[in-house]
Amino acid sequence: MSKKASIIGGGIIGLCSAYYLAKEGFQVSVFDKSDMTDGCSYGNAGMIVPSHIMPLAQPGMIAQGMKWMFDSQSPFYVKPRLSTDLIKWGMQFYQHANKKHVEKAMPALRDLSMLSKELYQDFAKENSSFFYDEKGLLMLFKTEKMAEEMHHEGKMAENLGLGVNYLSKDEVSQLETGTKTDVIGGVHYISDAHLYPQKFMQFIKEQLNKLGVSIHKNTTVTDFKINNNIVSEVITSKGNFTTDEVVLATGSWSPEIAKKLQTRISLLPGKGYSFTLKEQSHKPSIPSILCEGKVAVTPMANDIRFGGTMEITHNNDTKINQNRLKGIINSVNDFYPDLNIEMPKVEDTWYGFRPCTPSGMPIITKSKKITNLTFATGHAMMGLSLAPATGKIVAELISGKPTSVATNMFQL
Ligand SMILES: Cc1cc2nc3c(=O)[nH]c(=O)nc-3n(C[C@H](O)[C@H](O)[C@H](O)COP(=O)(O)OP(=O)(O)OC[C@H]3O[C@@H](n4cnc5c(N)ncnc54)[C@H](O)[C@@H]3O)c2cc1C
Repeated sequence: MSKKASIIGGGIIGLCSAYYLAKEGFQVSVFDKSDMTDGCSYGNAGMIVPSHIMPLAQPGMIAQGMKWMFDSQSPFYVKPRLSTDLIKWGMQFYQHANKKHVEKAMPALRDLSMLSKELYQDFAKENSSFFYDEKGLLMLFKTEKMAEEMHHEGKMAENLGLGVNYLSKDEVSQLETGTKTDVIGGVHYISDAHLYPQKFMQFIKEQLNKLGVSIHKNTTVTDFKINNNIVSEVITSKGNFTTDEVVLATGSWSPEIAKKLQTRISLLPGKGYSFTLKEQSHKPSIPSILCEGKVAVTPMANDIRFGGTMEITHNNDTKINQNRLKGIINSVNDFYPDLNIEMPKVEDTWYGFRPCTPSGMPIITKSKKITNLTFATGHAMMGLSLAPATGKIVAELISGKPTSVATNMFQL
């Protein structure tokens, strides 16, 4: 009889973990409290970003964040509230925002990212339904200060073996032929790729069905039966399920469910917005980040998606902040003057909660307390990018195999 693995959370991390565990021969069940159609793994910007080797916790972020706090249209915001979770998270973020941490984090993130990209290439060989494409990522800027920062980051990425081109204003417009750009230059990371997230989620669900994985939608995991440091049953709103292994992949909700597993996780949601314009013939052809506004722009098949803002908040904060949305619109129209995009209606605006750890590093590790528990969470703004590699490592950890990349930076 094959062993039973229960995945709590059916976002992209949970589904990729389910995929690789099923491939290893486990009898896999996925439990998700939602209908699995619209969470953080669906409306994101779809970028696969080996270029993103800098964790959110980095030198200068505290000072920049403080400045942004007083700007209602800024891309980064910490919602002030009296909460011990927020205070602890802030203190831990402060402790990690230094050069030493960044130097250790960068090669670890690069290796995880490169593995993930290879795995995406394997998926794309099988199926083209999710519009995987390797056009790189353009970091576009309008100020000398940002140019200097982006060139510096580009050099660090080059030192880690990534392909980077530094472009003048004219070179940007020669490369981006889909629409006019108004920038002073750009940095092109040729290693990056992109896809259509909703369509990838559909694809991976189909793969899971073929592999015989049971997917329990609208099923909230409320507790666990634990004996002698082993989880024997997953307790849900739709009954109890016996299990041999448990994977916690509950994104921004991880701290509350981890408590039931006798574990503290410091993690807060980083709320972000996106909206998608359908069937647009006139649009940028290469994914970009508009650096001064921290806005992501991704062409996806015939559509185009704009995403941005990072509001460190709590899971009940579902309000769409119109000022910050306006900040996204203004950036897009400043950088791409011919697009003339308008404020989307509230009902056409999507939001998602990025699961943000204070170190900026994902957690991919076996529990030290509970022998059959594995954590796969905290991927913040890189969950889509890192999901296949995370899923593969989860399966390796549970099967007792050596992991494809070192996991010492992904501990709790
Ligand atoms: C605007 C925006 C743009 C982004 N762009 C990118 C990008 O370009 N590239 C990139 O790599 N990443 C991007 N991200 C980040 C990425 O979307 C996330 O890192 C990723 O979706 C997190 O996946 P997850 O599976 O960990 O969490 P989720 O997708 O949130 O999944 C967790 C699941 O757990 C379920 N759950 C929670 N508690 C329970 C419970 N008790 N019982 C059962 N189920 C439960 C939830 O319902 C949820 O479905 C972006 C995010 C945002 C907001």
